[in-house]
Amino acid sequence: MKATTERVRIALQKKGRLADGSIDLLARCGLSVKGAKSQLMVQDETFGLEFIFARDDDIPEFVQSGVCDLGIVGDNLLEEYAQYEKNGVAVIMPLAFSRCRLSIATPKRSNISDIKDVAGKTIATSYPNTIKAYLDKNDVSAKIVVMHGSVELAPQIGVADIICDLVASGATLNENGLKEVLQIKQCQAVLIRNGAKLSNEKQLIVDRLIMRINGVLSAKQNRYIMLHIDKDKLPLLAKIMPGAERPTVLALNDTSDKVAVHVVSQEDVFWATMEKLKAIGASSILVLPIEKMVD
Ligand code: AMP
Repeated sequence: MKATTERVRIALQKKGRLADGSIDLLARCGLSVKGAKSQLMVQDETFGLEFIFARDDDIPEFVQSGVCDLGIVGDNLLEEYAQYEKNGVAVIMPLAFSRCRLSIATPKRSNISDIKDVAGKTIATSYPNTIKAYLDKNDVSAKIVVMHGSVELAPQIGVADIICDLVASGATLNENGLKEVLQIKQCQAVLIRNGAKLSNEKQLIVDRLIMRINGVLSAKQNRYIMLHIDKDKLPLLAKIMPGAERPTVLALNDTSDKVAVHVVSQEDVFWATMEKLKAIGASSILVLPIEKMVD
């Protein structure tokens, strides 16, 4: 059998909002990115991956040129630089972390509430192409000023009337006297790939990585629920809890009519659900996070 020589090279953000989330996701996939960040190129001995730590702006370029096979970036970057997707860079899957939104924000005292109110204003942004496309779609004309950072400063220093920037918690806007008025796009981290066909050896590595990421992502949303309940109340369970149509039902080692029920729920279980379960007589209710899940 041929020894594995090829590695799949994946570009990750070195510093910033995506950096920790990317390493955390890979760690959950069983990949320890040892020496990550201080060392700019790290090899994984067992999986056949090589990690490159780069500026997020450079990652789509590395993937497009084939220097890297895969990358993790914010999808806001891909939309802004549409040329990458035109040149074959493709999203393999959304990764459900580093969620934020690209929004228009105005000084708090402003009356702007509709995109039509933006007509004739000056907008500071690091995302000129995305906002231009949005303005065009809404038939609104405004002046765009490009800034590469500290965009929230623009109205205070007279560079622009309003801004268009990424918002996560909203704290930066608030601290700079701004309010979010219009959401343009929901954003999150995505796994991207180069457009060229991979060798069979590399494709196997990528498929294995995707399977593990899928396992981590589906586990994140799911909960494992265990409870005790009277056997004749089982039909009521499915009405209260999604996923409980085909529960695992186990006999208890006692003389009661109760059984133990184990269910994987596709959603988080909220207090209101717990109260409904209690109301139909469920007891010993345990809700556990699932770490990994492969169907
Ligand atoms: P926040 O104060 O949490 O709303 O974060 C806003 C600041 O963080 C802005 O300066 C944004 O440009 C930046 N930011 C927020 N989320 C992201 C993200 N997912 N990727 C890159 N920058 C972000």
